[in-house]
Amino acid sequence: MTILLRACPRCAGDLHAAADIYGPYNKCVQCGYTYDLPTRPPVALAPEAAEQLANRPVPKAA
Ligand SMILES: [Zn+2]
Repeated sequence: MTILLRACPRCAGDLHAAADIYGPYNKCVQCGYTYDLPTRPPVALAPEAAEQLANRPVPKAA
């Protein structure tokens, strides 16, 4: 189990790095804020498309 100290973007609390069948994610111990980590795109994706996907804007949480 990995703890990322004061890394929560919402409350600056500690993030618990974990993973489930959907992939890796971080969850804040203090406020419960959870977000998925980027994973590798499918291997069939063209390099240009993979780069676009990696650089896509991340939607802001309300
Ligand atoms: Zn938090």
